Amino acid sequence: MVGPMGVTRREALAGGVALATGAWGAPSLWLPSRQAAPVVVASANGLTSKNGGTVSCVETAFNLMVSGGDVLDALVEGVAIVESDPEDTSVGYGGLPNAEGTVQLDAAVMHGTRKTAGGVACLEGVRTPAKVASAVMLSTDHHLLVGEGAQKFARQMGFQVEDDLNTERSRKAWLEWKRRSDPEHFPDPRKRGGTEVAMEMAREGWFPIEHVFGTIHANAVGPDGSIAAVTTTSGLAFKIPGRVGDSPILGAGLYADGNVGAAGSTGRGEANLFGLCSFLIVEEMRRGSSPLDAGVFALRRVAEKTEARLKRPDASLAFGLQFYVLDKSGRFAGVSTNPGSFAVCDESGPRLAALEVVR
Ligand code: ASP
Repeated sequence: MVGPMGVTRREALAGGVALATGAWGAPSLWLPSRQAAPVVVASANGLTSKNGGTVSCVETAFNLMVSGGDVLDALVEGVAIVESDPEDTSVGYGGLPNAEGTVQLDAAVMHGTRKTAGGVACLEGVRTPAKVASAVMLSTDHHLLVGEGAQKFARQMGFQVEDDLNTERSRKAWLEWKRRSDPEHFPDPRKRGGTEVAMEMAREGWFPIEHVFGTIHANAVGPDGSIAAVTTTSGLAFKIPGRVGDSPILGAGLYADGNVGAAGSTGRGEANLFGLCSFLIVEEMRRGSSPLDAGVFALRRVAEKTEARLKRPDASLAFGLQFYVLDKSGRFAGVSTNPGSFAVCDESGPRLAALEVVR
């Protein structure tokens, strides 16, 4: 069955689409030049983080794009709320630092319609790495700048570069992690390692468990039909300095194609990098799959490609990995190895929707 905006009942249930008219004043948002049902999809912190204010990432991005703003500019402004929020210990300012106590950030942006992209990795000192990734896209002939080069570029572009992006909370969490894990020797990932200590600390309430891994991904289709995606993160908590996950890698942390749709991820970056799943998902949709089916396909591929030490005795995946998927007609889905939710904003308003679990 196909509902409003071409949404099937199965996807509506999985994606939490409101089939009835929402209470958010939808008709007034209908623009004359409109060619698509606008929607923003993001990880859950796209709705829960407000940096002490009243509006979230998904609302900000949606409002900007239905007011005529470019879809990617709108997303970058939206995720800046989460990047700047000291309470979100997974992204930007106050993100959990690396094993040496330094906050190192990764981000990428991709404009599927304009066919442009940019990214930064291991960037220190700038609270809003997605804005630097945008500057890489707009002002260079490259797709990815890393480390000191990325910071130097940010400074040259006029970004404020701070000595330390830790908050008291992230610094104290790092000190406790260091005390417990003895990072003078790189932890052997096959034994009790740094991630295990971080999980233990999350269970004790030092920071939310989803911030051990943790990121914001957001993608959108604008009223003019243009499609874009952004992913920004402090990466794996207490990672080895220099570690880069999936977030800033095109095809892994995000992918957007103006003729098809967009996908992006949060969770164990190493598992996603192995299969370049955002690209895989968009290619599946190009072949005709729905957002939900394409996301499920990618998680099944991850399960096939995952080594035994990362599986539970029942063969299910022992890590969190999520994909947020959107097609050009505005259909969307969120899929995950664990139960949880993701954020959506469309003409029915901002809300959380349930992730489809694939083990
Ligand atoms: N995917 C990110 C990374 O691996 C972390 C996360 O989203 O949880 O760096």
